[in-house]
Amino acid sequence: MKKYIFGCAVVLTLSIIGSSCKEHQKDDVEKTVQSVKRPNIILIVADDLGYADVGFNGSKDIDTPHLDELALNGTIATSGYVAHPFCGPSRAALLTGRYPHTIGSQFNLPANSEVSVGKGIPLQEVFMSKMLKDAGYRTGTVGKWHLGAVADYHPNKRGFDDFYGFLGGGHKYFPEEYTVIYNKQKAEGREVIFDYLKPLEHNGKNVENPMEYLTDELSRKAVDFVKDTNTDENPFFLYLAYNAPHVPLEAKAEDLELFRHIEDNDRRTYAAMVYAVDRGVGELVKALKAKNEYENTLIVFLSDNGGKLSKGANNYPLREGKGSTCEGGYRVPMFFHWPANIPSGKKFDYPVSALDFYPTFATLSGASIPKGKKLDGKDIWQDLIEGRNARKDEPLFVLRHRAGYSDVGVRLNEWKALRTNENPWKLFNIENDLGESNDLSKEHPEQLKQMVIEARNWSKTHTEPQWFDPEELQKDWEEQEMAKFNETFEMKVN
Ligand code: CA
Repeated sequence: MKKYIFGCAVVLTLSIIGSSCKEHQKDDVEKTVQSVKRPNIILIVADDLGYADVGFNGSKDIDTPHLDELALNGTIATSGYVAHPFCGPSRAALLTGRYPHTIGSQFNLPANSEVSVGKGIPLQEVFMSKMLKDAGYRTGTVGKWHLGAVADYHPNKRGFDDFYGFLGGGHKYFPEEYTVIYNKQKAEGREVIFDYLKPLEHNGKNVENPMEYLTDELSRKAVDFVKDTNTDENPFFLYLAYNAPHVPLEAKAEDLELFRHIEDNDRRTYAAMVYAVDRGVGELVKALKAKNEYENTLIVFLSDNGGKLSKGANNYPLREGKGSTCEGGYRVPMFFHWPANIPSGKKFDYPVSALDFYPTFATLSGASIPKGKKLDGKDIWQDLIEGRNARKDEPLFVLRHRAGYSDVGVRLNEWKALRTNENPWKLFNIENDLGESNDLSKEHPEQLKQMVIEARNWSKTHTEPQWFDPEELQKDWEEQEMAKFNETFEMKVN
């Protein structure tokens, strides 16, 4: 019983498989309902992966054959956005379906947040994992969490049946290194040991003897989760959050060897780290096929933010990188793969937001969106498969608070409004100026004004940050009376 969906969500799902449900007679739909199996959903997130650092987005020096095969047999979202240009807030938005600023999560949880902040993403925000678990999915997450390192905010309390990974914002990659340093510091009696060195954990228990390079370890555990799920009983939801190619730049010698043609050390190491992620995705696909679940699994891939240019990444042709409200900060590699249910070999150029995954997965799984849950994205499924703009005339925002001022980006149809470093607002036609180089604010002042007003109205939904990173930023925030929205949304143009 659990493996089938009924009711209105099914009608939507069926329309994926064939023509629109409106074209079917009701009887036909009801006959077919019985045979529709709910999809497994795998959400794969890379960390700080550049827009141009995968083959399917044109990388010339990094090989990603397994990702490319999925991307080319699925639909590539060329305008895929995350809700924030760095890790924690982006992931908070991904799993809650809310802009991080609306839930006080607009900064990263600082390192060792369990001893400083002692909290995580607000508990009233039901994660998509909980929604899917309540709908009968087996739910698992493997990798980086970064959404709360104390008990109440632990993945197992946020709707994940299974968690294997680490709770902080990053980790070293070689167990023979991090285990030794951790044990030494522990023996010295250090009370607080840096997150990146801590033992991995499985459902709250430390993993005693990890043997593998971290990316390979996470891939293996993701494969185990798939293998261990009885898909005759339940579909599954797997959130696989690699921390590669986030720093520290650490790669296996055998992978580095494959990229010896890359002269720059950082770039070579970064490339080898991406390659390891790709290898893991290949293993996951193999496991899905062996289990006969490949056809019935939606795989969504993206990066949590843009690549870090000073650490080997390449976001070409986008401007800037991680942390920026230019496109390179938050427009990311992204694809959707689901054989037979999503167009193959297509590119979808309209904006897609990571905020859209929550309501979209709800539809595809037949899950009920929790009562009272606010969502900032929308179900984009029909538009994605039929090649229509899901948010015509609806803006998407990005905002990053810095020390004393805020950077903003607004995407609306073909337009991008941008404010950085307290400079005047600029306007770009982002469809034909991906590099944000030709400011059109003078030519189209009314267009810019409309977008700034939309952003200002959106900023009124924000709540005060619940924590800061670095923590000293709280002092700046108070002394400088941040978020300074009056100044930020002033219509100063060139
Ligand atoms: Ca990141």
